[in-house]
Amino acid sequence: MVIDEILQYNQQFVKRKAYEQYAAGKYPSRKLAVLSCMDTRLTELLPAALGLRNGDAKIIKNAGGVIADPFGSAMRSLLIAVHTLGVESILVIGHTDCGVQGLDSAAVMKKMRDNGISETAIQMMRDCRPDFDQWLCGFHSVEASVENSVGIIRRHPLIPLAVQVHGCVIDVVTGELKPVV
Ligand SMILES: [Zn+2]
Repeated sequence: MVIDEILQYNQQFVKRKAYEQYAAGKYPSRKLAVLSCMDTRLTELLPAALGLRNGDAKIIKNAGGVIADPFGSAMRSLLIAVHTLGVESILVIGHTDCGVQGLDSAAVMKKMRDNGISETAIQMMRDCRPDFDQWLCGFHSVEASVENSVGIIRRHPLIPLAVQVHGCVIDVVTGELKPVV
């Protein structure tokens, strides 16, 4: 079980005081928040390619690195970062070869059914969230998706005008950043 491996490794990590090199404060020293994708290839590549060290930035991740809902959890995290943690700049980073690109909700729902999720449960989600199908959908163009999320943040009624909001696409192999907005 992966959890057992992790717990075992963790005991050694703490014992040899490997944490000392990660000492940092809770306020981001670069006054930056990054919204990006949960893609496994970005776990270490993203901070390395941006020159970010532990303690430099608030990093918020989800499938696609998107603001899927102006009042959802990614936006909530950004609002907390700006209003209570001193964040002055926000960077939205999409990436090449994203799994969310081209994802269609019918395919996701088929996988749900294949995994034994009942029609009743799917219907219950549709009743709770009338936009359920759209909510599950991916995007067609990563640049357009980044632009859309940047726009939502910039126009958000609870984000101060002074906050800088920018968008980029990162190459998932080379780490090269290309500005979008
Ligand atoms: Zn992705």
